[in-house]
Amino acid sequence: MNIKSKKQFSTLCAQSGKLSQQIHPHQTPVYATAAFEFDQLTEGTNAFLSQPGTHVYSRYGNPTVEAVAESIANLEGMGVDGQTYAVMTGSGMAAIHLVVQALCRPGDVILTQEDLYGGTTELFFKLFKPFGVDLLTSDFAEEMDLTKLLNKFPIRLIYLETPTNPMLNCVDLEMVCQVATKAGVMVVVDNTFNTPYITRPLALGADLVIHSTTKFIHGHGYSTGGVVVGKSKELIMEKIWTVLKLNGSILSPFEAMLIQIGVKTLGLRIKQQSFNANQLAKYFQEHPKVKKVNYPGLPTHPHHRIAQKQMNAFGAMLSFELDLNLGEIESMLSGLGIGRIAPSLGEAETMIMHPASMSHLRMPEDQKKKFGITEGLIRLSIGLEDVEDQLDAWDSALRAV
Ligand code: PLP
Repeated sequence: MNIKSKKQFSTLCAQSGKLSQQIHPHQTPVYATAAFEFDQLTEGTNAFLSQPGTHVYSRYGNPTVEAVAESIANLEGMGVDGQTYAVMTGSGMAAIHLVVQALCRPGDVILTQEDLYGGTTELFFKLFKPFGVDLLTSDFAEEMDLTKLLNKFPIRLIYLETPTNPMLNCVDLEMVCQVATKAGVMVVVDNTFNTPYITRPLALGADLVIHSTTKFIHGHGYSTGGVVVGKSKELIMEKIWTVLKLNGSILSPFEAMLIQIGVKTLGLRIKQQSFNANQLAKYFQEHPKVKKVNYPGLPTHPHHRIAQKQMNAFGAMLSFELDLNLGEIESMLSGLGIGRIAPSLGEAETMIMHPASMSHLRMPEDQKKKFGITEGLIRLSIGLEDVEDQLDAWDSALRAV
């Protein structure tokens, strides 16, 4: 409707873009606004007094971002008594940084794994160690060893990934959470590889879950984001939210919309991608040219029993080893009719990563040897391509080497 106004050109420009009509969108729109306005000062004061929850400024809270936070909190909260809460960040790294910044102080120790995502290890070493937050590692295999470590060092939090990258080692979350709870130590789980379709660490006793939503949760590779989920309102909506508001590592509402689209099909995608990965893992295991397959769904995997206990499906990530050098791997992959070489995971298309020449390139040789990062090791994030096409593509590629 064109309402005639006596106002001049630039006033009309500045005041433009506002709908007075009440609308009822079926999906949460992208609230692309930096600030929220008030008819009266008292309304503004009340909104500031009830932060977070009401809307004043998008760094403090944005409805599109909150909608996706709630979606993920609900999924991670299945099987948990009571409500769960979540805040979104601009990347997975920002989520990890946020948690450590909110919880750790100089003198605290983080107990974690040696084979953590490389970026997380680098973050702990380069950004937190200089501020007096120390790092200790364990394989979390034995309850007794864990108890001893917790009694001996000023451990503030346990930070875990299961399965790990790229060897897909699994940690018994229930055991670790029970020991940690007894010792009054918090457990934070990076659930990026599994998603809540597969494992819900909060229901197993963890205090916080983080994700790089860049991966399976969004699932299509068009967005970067992160999330922190927990059971304590005070921890998420006061302590962690306050740090997020002040460090400003927030998610944009445009990214939130993209992530929300991904969440709608998360169950279907993970179910199918896990099925495809299972088929491929079995195929690779039978293949005479394959030396080793790392997939927690295989009964031969050293942590298969742990995986059976805490995973509803065995996931879309696997790695396998061939007796080939870098050049041979390169020529095999260049003829492969499926998947793309890319340093990420969790998308609809299969993604191929060669740890020795990509993610673990800078790792010292002795460390690579220790973790089994050989030139013949390939990591796959299995996609939604028909599994028959995937098997055909690998069959031809392996026949040619
Ligand atoms: N956690 C895991 C397990 C990852 O694989 C990654 C990135 O690859 C991250 C966290 C960091 O996420 P982002 O790249 O969204 O910052």
